[in-house]
Amino acid sequence: MNLSTPYYLIDETKLLKNLKKIKYVSRNSGAKSVLALKCFSTWSVFPLMKQYMDGTTSSSLYEARLGHEKFGKEVHAYCVGFSKEDIKEVKKYADKIIFNSISQLKMFYKGLKNIKIGLRINPKISYSHFDLADPARKYSRLGVVDKKSILKILPLISGLMFHFNCENDDFKNFSKNLDYLGRNYGDLLKKLEWISLGGGLYFTKEGYPLDKFCKKLKEFSEKFQIQIYLEPGETAITRSAELVTSIVDIVHNEIDIAIVDASTEAHMLDLLIYRTPAKMEASVSGKYKYMIAGRSCLAGDIFGTYNFKNKLKIGSIVKISDAAGYSMVKKNWFNGLQMPSIVVKKLDGSTKIVRQFEYKDYINSLS
Ligand SMILES: *Cc1c(COP(=O)(O)O)cnc(C)c1O
Repeated sequence: MNLSTPYYLIDETKLLKNLKKIKYVSRNSGAKSVLALKCFSTWSVFPLMKQYMDGTTSSSLYEARLGHEKFGKEVHAYCVGFSKEDIKEVKKYADKIIFNSISQLKMFYKGLKNIKIGLRINPKISYSHFDLADPARKYSRLGVVDKKSILKILPLISGLMFHFNCENDDFKNFSKNLDYLGRNYGDLLKKLEWISLGGGLYFTKEGYPLDKFCKKLKEFSEKFQIQIYLEPGETAITRSAELVTSIVDIVHNEIDIAIVDASTEAHMLDLLIYRTPAKMEASVSGKYKYMIAGRSCLAGDIFGTYNFKNKLKIGSIVKISDAAGYSMVKKNWFNGLQMPSIVVKKLDGSTKIVRQFEYKDYINSLS
């Protein structure tokens, strides 16, 4: 098949490696895993993912609807601020609705028969390398801080959600923090049915102590007689996709700069937001050094600087790794640039273009 760049390539064989670890954790710990759609919503691969996961969790009405329509199984609906209209519709899709505050809970719980209700808690601890993504940052609006106020509304809810990690690959840190939750909220947990530990636990990473992780989760759920949920986003899809680009020009300004037919700002926005260089597996130790840059007008549209084994030329393919999480969901039409297609390499090795974008999609994104 002749694929024209740019395109996101999701490799189901790589995805399956993560999914098998997720299933292993649920089998050995009893903790269920629901996919965090805000990280990854490319529904073409949901038929594979849903065989290994228990459902989805969402941050808005549309994500909840997507989870219901395209993934099925359990639908957890959370939003930092639901509107009255949202709630009317979200209750058609959700098995659980998790409120971010006690005022939202009080506003809406009455209309929610047959739906489990939860509340997000801010435990004032977190693991994040970035203040921007730190749910326990000063003045954080994410979750309820005051424990006394939670006690008062306890009869209205069946569970609590704590999302306090971000790319946390440190099991000891997680273990210590879980003990902390047990000490501080154990009296509440004993009266509830479920607890969600949120996302941000990097347990599919090579070398992560999976068995210790399972044991820890199992002990916690037995101690408090409670069903644990995990909400993996990044860890479910990590290393399963790349952004495949071609070089359209090479310019020189003190250094060699190769311009590719994609852009950080439009196609891998998180790199810009967190000011991290793109991962590039193919280039580590070669002697040809290039800055790889995007073709938007933004001066700082730079993927990173890498050492390639071979000299690059116009038309050379450059593959940017780890392009699934927080990139496909954030792609946009900045500069009117060609939107990368979505291509899936199936488990049987065949490759399928699942979505292509054209001028019509661009013009329809505004009016
Ligand atoms: C973002 C988010 C997740 C997923 O986080 P990852 O770091 O991608 O695993 C899960 N739960 C909640 C509430 C979130 O906000």
